[in-house]
Amino acid sequence: MLDELYKELSSKRKGSAERFQMPVVDVTVEGNRTVFRNFSTFCEKVRREPELVAKFISREFGAPARIEGKRLILQKRVKRGLFQKKMELFVDYYVLCHECGKPDTKIVNIEGVHYLVCEACGARRPLKK
Ligand SMILES: [Zn+2]
Repeated sequence: MLDELYKELSSKRKGSAERFQMPVVDVTVEGNRTVFRNFSTFCEKVRREPELVAKFISREFGAPARIEGKRLILQKRVKRGLFQKKMELFVDYYVLCHECGKPDTKIVNIEGVHYLVCEACGARRPLKK
């Protein structure tokens, strides 16, 4: 009985340790622009297309954003804390599975509708464009 309980507890602990680590954004304000310095690393970590991430940032902050090498330049001054919060929203919406909480997901297009499909549990959820 106890052994069973221990097994269950340790597997639960393992599960939470494997939970997705939100990347910390490295942003700096230069004049009237905000430079997202670890943009390409962020995209790699969340496994999403840079274009999708750039589009989200531009829309959320209501300002043009362009990719410049490994960085993203937003034509607006944004504080780091707010930037971080927005990127957490991005991850919550476009990356994490709402069923199991894992980041092992991909975006697939089914008959013109984009879905977030979870490779871990198979759940899928439609994404608003
Ligand atoms: Zn899932």
